[in-house]
Amino acid sequence: MKTQKLMSLLFFICFSSIMIGQSKNTDEAISLANKNILVVWGGWDGHQPEVFAKKISKWAKQMGAHVIVSDSLGVYSNKDLMDKQDLIIQYWTMGEISKEQSEGLIEAVKKGTGLVGCHGGIGDSFRNNTDYQYMVGGQWVTHPGGKINYTVQISNTGDPVTEGLQDFEIQNTEQYYMHVDPNVRVLATTTFNADHDAWIEGNSMPVVWKKHHDKGPVFYISIGHNPEDFDHPAVWTMLTRGIDWAITGGKD
Ligand SMILES: [Zn+2]
Repeated sequence: MKTQKLMSLLFFICFSSIMIGQSKNTDEAISLANKNILVVWGGWDGHQPEVFAKKISKWAKQMGAHVIVSDSLGVYSNKDLMDKQDLIIQYWTMGEISKEQSEGLIEAVKKGTGLVGCHGGIGDSFRNNTDYQYMVGGQWVTHPGGKINYTVQISNTGDPVTEGLQDFEIQNTEQYYMHVDPNVRVLATTTFNADHDAWIEGNSMPVVWKKHHDKGPVFYISIGHNPEDFDHPAVWTMLTRGIDWAITGGKD
């Protein structure tokens, strides 16, 4: 019995240390002071994009940024507004974007404005627009099994975004199977098993990446089906560090 208690205590101490390690956020190292961020949300309601937009806007304001929130893609064709932005954070699943709006967004990024997003928010937007997909670096194609538990492997611990983080399990959410541009720099991956589609067993898939589209830094994380996914300390840490990376010009 004593041994059991000791083991439980040891487990608790180890587990707490891991959680503290994972949640050691970089907020104190991130400053968004006087940066201009445009948060754009919409598209398929199932992803509750407004919840994400509110959460990330609140955090960015606390970090000192000037934040504009829009539920319309029309902002992308407002050149004066776009020219002022240091970063665009989008959560817009599926939907359609006009040629003018798409060009406005892509031109801003090519000139150096950062783009950050998660899950279907940038990884499954505007399915008929390949210029847009070329900028993001990947496109969702399926999520075998729907909401499941899966493991995320940190594949690049030398990067500031993933530094100090360890592999972790995320629960009751979608494991994205994507078509990915070889130009991305992969920071974390997930491996598919045979539970749902046996023929993809063992395939390693990027979950987090960085890339540039001309001068624009692009950061993506495929987690984020549920608003609660961002309550996982490692997920939130990578997202906020990715924002920090993209808004400061994407330099390493
Ligand atoms: Zn989803």
